[in-house]
Formats: sequence, C-alpha cells, structure tokens
Amino acid sequence: MFRTFLALLAAGCSLAAADRIYVLKAARMFDGKGDHVLTPGLVVVADDKIIAVGRNAAIPAGAETIDLGDATLLPGLMDAHTHLADPFERDYRNEELNLLKKPVSERTLDALDNLRKTIMAGITTVRDLGSEDFIDVGLRNATAAGKITGPRMLVSVHALGSTGGHCDPFAGYAAGVFGREPDFRDGVIDSPEQARLAVRYNIKNGADVIKTCATGGVLSLTDDVDTPQLTQAELDALVDEAHALRRKAAAHAHGANGAKRAIRAGIDSIEHGSFLDDEALDMMKQRGTYYVPTLMAAQGLKERLSDGYLPPAVATKARLAMASLDETVRKAIAKGVRMAVGTDATVYPHGRNAEEFGLLVKLGMKPIDALKAGTSVDAQLLGIAERTGTLETGKLADIVACPGNPEENIRQVEKIGFVMKEGVVVRKGM
Ligand SMILES: [Zn+2]
Repeated sequence: MFRTFLALLAAGCSLAAADRIYVLKAARMFDGKGDHVLTPGLVVVADDKIIAVGRNAAIPAGAETIDLGDATLLPGLMDAHTHLADPFERDYRNEELNLLKKPVSERTLDALDNLRKTIMAGITTVRDLGSEDFIDVGLRNATAAGKITGPRMLVSVHALGSTGGHCDPFAGYAAGVFGREPDFRDGVIDSPEQARLAVRYNIKNGADVIKTCATGGVLSLTDDVDTPQLTQAELDALVDEAHALRRKAAAHAHGANGAKRAIRAGIDSIEHGSFLDDEALDMMKQRGTYYVPTLMAAQGLKERLSDGYLPPAVATKARLAMASLDETVRKAIAKGVRMAVGTDATVYPHGRNAEEFGLLVKLGMKPIDALKAGTSVDAQLLGIAERTGTLETGKLADIVACPGNPEENIRQVEKIGFVMKEGVVVRKGM
C-alpha cells in the first residue's frame, strides 16, 4: 500500500484523489520508443494518467484488472494528417454537392461518424489539416469536453494557399458564383502580408497548427499537381508568423521546387511529397523536417480510379503522383529522413487509418520504426510529446491493444480491439 502511495505521489496525484484505477495486462507491450516489443505488458492507470509501467509495477489495492490475453499494449496511435470534418465520398461530384447543399450543422453532425470510426480504429490523436466553416474547431472542443466520442484533435481551420491553388476553396467553380473572390478569411493568400494576416486570423479562430499548400494537388481542378503555388517570401512570412505564435506549420507539397521553398522557410513537415528529389530529401534530413507521405491517400485514389469516379483531369494527376510516390518514400526511409504517420483520411474511408503502417513497412520501414512513427514521433511533430505518445509514468493514459505481435506482423494494428483515451475505456472488444 505504501509503495502504491509512493507511485501515485510520483505520478503527481494522491491515492485518495484517484476515482478509477485500472491495471491493463497483455502478453506484450510496445512503449513507443524502445527497439523491441517487451514481455509481459503491464500498465497501471489512475484517472487519466499512467502511474506505473512494466513487470515490476506495483498493483494498487482495489484496481480493476483488464486482462487482454495474447495481445500487445501500445500507446494510442496517431494520425498526423486527417480531414475529419469531411465525409469520404467515392464519387468526386458528391464532395462538391455536400458543400453546396448541406448546411454547416448537417455537415458537422455527419462528421461525428468519422470521429467515432477513427478512435475505434485506435487513433487517439489526430492533427486535422484543413476544413471549412470552422467545423474542426467545434469538433475539437466538443471532443475535449467529453461531449462526443472521438480522438484528441489538433486543428488548423483553413488551409492557406494562393488564388486558384489547391487550397482555394472557390477554385473549380465559375467566377462570381459566390458573389465575391475568396480572401484570407477563406484561406486564400497572395502576398507575405496576407500570409501573416491569415495565420493570425486562423489562430484567432482556434487553430492549433497552420497548414499551407506549397504546390498543386491531386483533387483540385484548376492546377497542375507539382507546380509551386506560394513564393519563397510568402512561405517565409507564413512559417515565421506561425512559429512566432508558437504554432507548427505543415506544407502540402507534391513538387520538389515548392517543397524546397517550404523546407527553406523552416516548415515542420512536408505532406505527400510525391516528387521530392534527392536534394529535397537531403535538406529535410539535415534540418530534421518531418515527412508525412500519406500513403493511404494514394491507396484511396487507386481504389477510386479503378471505380471510374474521378474527373479525367484529376485521374491524370493521381496517376502521375502515384507513379512517383513509392520510390520517393523508399528513398526517404533509406536516407533516414524523419518519417511520421499521417493518412489524409477522407480521401479513403475514415477508420482505415492504421493501414498506413503496413504500407510504410512494404516500402522498407522496420515494423518497430513504423510503430514509433505513429506514436512517439507523431507526438514530437505535434508538439505534445511531453503529455502523450509513449507508455511512461506521468503520461496521459492513451493506450490501445492489438491481437498478437505487431513487430512480427505490422498489420495486426489494423485489428485494434481495445482503446483507452485519457483513462476512459472507449472500446473493449478484444
Ligand atoms: Zn490533406
């Protein structure tokens, strides 16, 4: 009992104050940073925090034991690139119709299903990189307050990009349809001054992170996929302002030229990166820029291409990007670029996020490195590593479990059966 008290004291809480104490047991555990899965798996949770880990952990009296059997305990998985406010639509035309025909309230309620599917898949934290109408802010706040079920969200409000670029929400519609041209309030920026203004506007309205489109994209109608879409001066201003206000910045970038501008500007992560060349990858390695390849986006596009549901212009761009992405990711892994796990959920059906791990391993990543990338490395990229991302005393109790051993078969993470977020059991179905 005294040892328990000391353990609780060390974890910064008193035994008397702990309402719930769980002991999670499994055959194995991965702590988020070690080079191997450990045996056995044992984690003690008091309220929302981990208070002891490992075979010698003291078991407090009165704790509820959850024995998961032949399973592996893991830190809650993370996804550094989602769009939870957007529904997955196999048919491209429906994405546009949703925005035009559904009120914000309906689109927000539709998104609850995306949040539920995501956390049930073991994703306890997401970095949500762009949405419309501040839906992401509402979802984040309601989830944090425990009003709805979903992962912890870091949100970016509008993605910021140039007129006619991948992040221009009016691009693809006839001029004048919306009665005005979009501006910084919609995420459209065309000068360094407007970049700073839009960063400030996003943060004023709840952004945890700044997202920008440094190059064209696949699922947009008025641009090439690889051309740069912001100048060096615009990206310099955007990243400088984000960092000054203690926010990280992520750049959507397919083409190497636009990506290099973002990397030079000090961007924290490059998203997609289909056409990154050796110079870009070497710059990232040297500066410690994270690479979030979003292989699941390519997987989703592949499935939609075979169904014939993409407009011809988009299909052509998708094929071009997909033809280059795998080789780029192989190279990045071989060079030792810091790889993080993100999926671009909404390009494929929400809830399949954990398939990203298997795709990374297929391209040369060791399973244990993929597990680190989707837990402790993502936590560093998101700036929350002091609170979560590992199974360590004092960390938030975000804990999931998959059957078997993911170090032997990484695809076991696609079968997460147990999910706990901040000490609350969300799924208990091993
Ligand atoms: Zn995206």
